[in-house]
Amino acid sequence: MMGKCLIIGAGGVASVAVHKCCQNSGVFKEIMIASRTKSKCDALKSKLQGTTDTLIHTARVNADNVDEMIALIESFNPDVVLNLALPYQDLTIMDACLATRTHYVDTANYEPPETAKFEYKWQWAYRDKFKNAGITALLGSGFDPGVTGVFCAYAMKHYFDSIEYIDILDCNGGDHGYPFATNFNPEINIREVSANGRYWESGKWIETSPMEIKREYRFDGVGERDMYLLYHEELESLAQNIKGIKRIRFFMTFGQSYLTHLKCLENVGMTSIEPIMYEGREIIPLQFLKAVLPDPASLGERTIGKTNIGCIIQGVKDGKPVNYYVYNICDHRECYKEVGSQAVSYTTGVPAMLGAMMVMTGEWNKAGVYNIEEFDPDPFMRELNKWGLPWIESFNPDLVN
Ligand code: NDP
Repeated sequence: MMGKCLIIGAGGVASVAVHKCCQNSGVFKEIMIASRTKSKCDALKSKLQGTTDTLIHTARVNADNVDEMIALIESFNPDVVLNLALPYQDLTIMDACLATRTHYVDTANYEPPETAKFEYKWQWAYRDKFKNAGITALLGSGFDPGVTGVFCAYAMKHYFDSIEYIDILDCNGGDHGYPFATNFNPEINIREVSANGRYWESGKWIETSPMEIKREYRFDGVGERDMYLLYHEELESLAQNIKGIKRIRFFMTFGQSYLTHLKCLENVGMTSIEPIMYEGREIIPLQFLKAVLPDPASLGERTIGKTNIGCIIQGVKDGKPVNYYVYNICDHRECYKEVGSQAVSYTTGVPAMLGAMMVMTGEWNKAGVYNIEEFDPDPFMRELNKWGLPWIESFNPDLVN
């Protein structure tokens, strides 16, 4: 089946998605990589051209500008736009997709640049518009959100009559050798982990201080790690889409060195998103911090170890209690060998490619704005095994207390 995909962004995640599209030339006949810095798009093109049957184009675009986006879409005429820029660009890219009646896929929900508050409400507000235009917006097609939602939908479809408890466990057992660095965009990462924790229980949100709830867990392939309860965006949609759910939580592992550095940076004001005046010009401390930290793209060749991300699901089938754990283990080194990126970008870039593929091939085909767990999980689960993110199931997992 003939397909054209416009990819916005040329950072860590986009680089993996582009590699994966080029491995999947049967679906991705033509791609265009467009970002603010065109040289990064061109570098990807020159690395991959000649190794793939996928035809690669590049362009410069400022995705904050709807008219520029519309002009680009009209010139390339893609089947789908895969948004791998930053969450700040979600709405302008969705507007351009609406104006040109083009399907839309992303991996992170919109957040306004000036407040660190991510919620689906802004994108869910487009539901009727997308439905009326006859196009699909697939929200959150990374790993978490993304594969975690597909895991929950798969569990619901095959193993449960009702689901009561979900714990999403995100473990990065990788070591890049730096005392402090973030594995993806530092600004987005630090905004996420310095926010209050939150989880859903008995029909309401319960808020915690940052890193207030800590547990230890023994991860297959990694070993024992400390993990902390965080708010994570898929909790919002899963709490609505998994009917009857009593509690859903999200835990992420952090090492002591990372947390100590983060605390210091916070204490001195370096993680703030409030503008300050510095030598006559306004700067945002967190953006300045980003400029001095290692570029996440440079971590790949230094990182060893594995990630383990998955969902522990408890519920009932045929009147009997069922405990189910489904997870993926991904090796940083193997990823680097294959596509030149570490596992955090890899585990996001592969599902991004798959989401675009599901929409392009029409395997996922309904007009409107949907979170990933609202689609049939089976084809996506099948393709995960094929494209580098095989999953493992256990019906007797350790539970999180
Ligand atoms: P990077 O910072 O590495 O890359 C972002 C890219 O977007 C850069 O190429 C950047 O260009 C480009 N960009 C930024 N602003 C604009 C703009 N206005 N117009 C056009 N291009 C722009 O980020 P990552 O690759 O690490 O992350 C990409 C996305 O993936 C983020 O939204 C992140 O939240 C999400 N993510 C999702 C995960 C999941 O599991 N669901 C996990 C990890 C990330 P330039 O180089 O010029 O700045």
